[in-house]
Amino acid sequence: MKNKHLFFGFLLALVALIFISPELFARAGGGGDYGGGGGNGGGDSGGLFLIIYYIFMLLPFPINIIAVVIVVAIFIYFGRKKKIKMNQKSVFNNIPTGNNQNAKGVQQKEIPLKYANSGDIKAKIEHAFLQIQKGWQNQDLSKVRKFISDGVYQRFTTQFTIMNILEQKNVIYDIKIHNITTVDSHEENEYAIVDAAIHATIVDEYKSAKYPQFNQGGSDTFVEYWSFIRKKNVTEAKDLYFSHNCPKCGNSLPEDAGEVSKCDSCGTLTNSGEYDWVLAEITQTVDYNANGFKKADSVAKKLLEVYKKDPTFSIQMMEDKASNAFLQILTARTKSKAELARRFVSDTYYSRLETEVKSDTGKAYVRLYLNHVDLVNGYSKEQMDYLIFNIKYTKQQLKLDGGKGQLIDHAPFTMQKVMVMCRASNAAPAKGQLYAHSCPNCAGPISDTIDTKCSYCGEALNSPNFEWIVDNVYDSNEYKEVKSTLTDIPMITNANPEDTEKLFKVRDYAFNNILIIMAADGVYSDEEKAHVNQLAKQFKYHEQQVAGWVQLAEQKKLSMIWPYEKEDKQKVYAMMEKAAMADNQIQDSERQLLEQAKQYLN
Ligand SMILES: [Zn+2]
Ligand SMILES: [Zn+2]
Repeated sequence: MKNKHLFFGFLLALVALIFISPELFARAGGGGDYGGGGGNGGGDSGGLFLIIYYIFMLLPFPINIIAVVIVVAIFIYFGRKKKIKMNQKSVFNNIPTGNNQNAKGVQQKEIPLKYANSGDIKAKIEHAFLQIQKGWQNQDLSKVRKFISDGVYQRFTTQFTIMNILEQKNVIYDIKIHNITTVDSHEENEYAIVDAAIHATIVDEYKSAKYPQFNQGGSDTFVEYWSFIRKKNVTEAKDLYFSHNCPKCGNSLPEDAGEVSKCDSCGTLTNSGEYDWVLAEITQTVDYNANGFKKADSVAKKLLEVYKKDPTFSIQMMEDKASNAFLQILTARTKSKAELARRFVSDTYYSRLETEVKSDTGKAYVRLYLNHVDLVNGYSKEQMDYLIFNIKYTKQQLKLDGGKGQLIDHAPFTMQKVMVMCRASNAAPAKGQLYAHSCPNCAGPISDTIDTKCSYCGEALNSPNFEWIVDNVYDSNEYKEVKSTLTDIPMITNANPEDTEKLFKVRDYAFNNILIIMAADGVYSDEEKAHVNQLAKQFKYHEQQVAGWVQLAEQKKLSMIWPYEKEDKQKVYAMMEKAAMADNQIQDSERQLLEQAKQYLN
């Protein structure tokens, strides 16, 4: 009898340990140990207490005491081991910041290129970088339109739109390129893609006479990742960078190319990837290096395999289309004109967008940009193909308030959405570019109206029979619910939107947000510095990483970031609250930020 109890008790304890340990230990490396294991640790140990309770109930004295000691010892031993490993693995320690002037942190491995001559492509990248800075400052993309993708074009124009509302200019000077390194190259069906790390210094200033309170800027040394795409089978490579002639017919390209980069004489699209490398994405260091998803080759392979026969399909091109669509939706919200997105969204999403536009009336943006778009999954249902994109973007809103300009967001906040695009499984090749205002059925021009019928051919413009359209845009929780209704539908991959964030640990979110709180009042006091340094040590961050991070915080260039899970969000918030008390008083600016951060906890 006694033995039976003993055996059962140990078995129960063992089973419980096996089941709960990964989660318990994962948290130990994150928020659990912050501040010496105080208030935040409580929830973590719940599982352990349960085991101890059962051991006490089921085992006779004194065996129960011995069993508890053994279980606790095992727990502590494995917890510590795992924690040490986790701390060393922090993704932030491996991110080149560019701020480290001895450049040790930015030396990256150059990779050999299969489809390009490295010197040739670097000369083009340098030219693109300098021309784009110039175009950005002058809000004029005519010189660069020919070699940038539609999605990249839309990124810039969305920025121009929000800056124009505030009558804001971004002046740039003292551009120095320190280094260009090709760091990745791979194939996606018919396309080749090259990623280059650009290490540069720029002095930039946001200036507005109307809203001078939002002026900001300074010198910034950084690493940015620029991705270029081209067809693999380009037989005779043309030059879009140092020539302004059509790569197909040789005539002069238009000086005023807008949302489509097309030759007036022969009608070819210069940025299709048929002729030369096209800039398809610009990614900030943190988003590039902390995104564990790009490395998930198996996911990419599965998606590419399904669309092997579609000559327009590559992951980069689809992400570009998704970026383009999402940015046009953001522009529609910014301009309070839902009709700007009418032609390429489903009827269901359109009515939702109308509501969002209404709630945005009278608001503008200090900051609004796309961090990253990732194609993560797809499926087919009832003769329709669906693709699922994780979207990360950053916004800082204000109320215009009769020219006064009141901040709604007291810091930039990074948001997560899941966008689903759909197209008929037997779709005919598109004749026009829906996203650039031409009918996908007859190529006739389309204006921005709420009428979805093409005035030339009568076809529904947002019909999924020719082009990928936006089916819906969800919050992550909403998408989880949608996905749970698809249990009998086979998904192409086993990836979820939140997998794109898997390299971030709770402490990474916390440390980032704490720096924003510390910088909120514009003063970075000695007490706050001491607190940040102590935290950095505890979290095992490298000194040079922290220095770069602090500098970004002081320049107000960091944005609030949040983990996916609700309890992780609450942990991050608790740490932020504690940090705000570092100097034993909470400033108004800190309180405002904390109050606002609370809204993101659910
Ligand atoms: Zn031409
Ligand atoms: Zn038409």
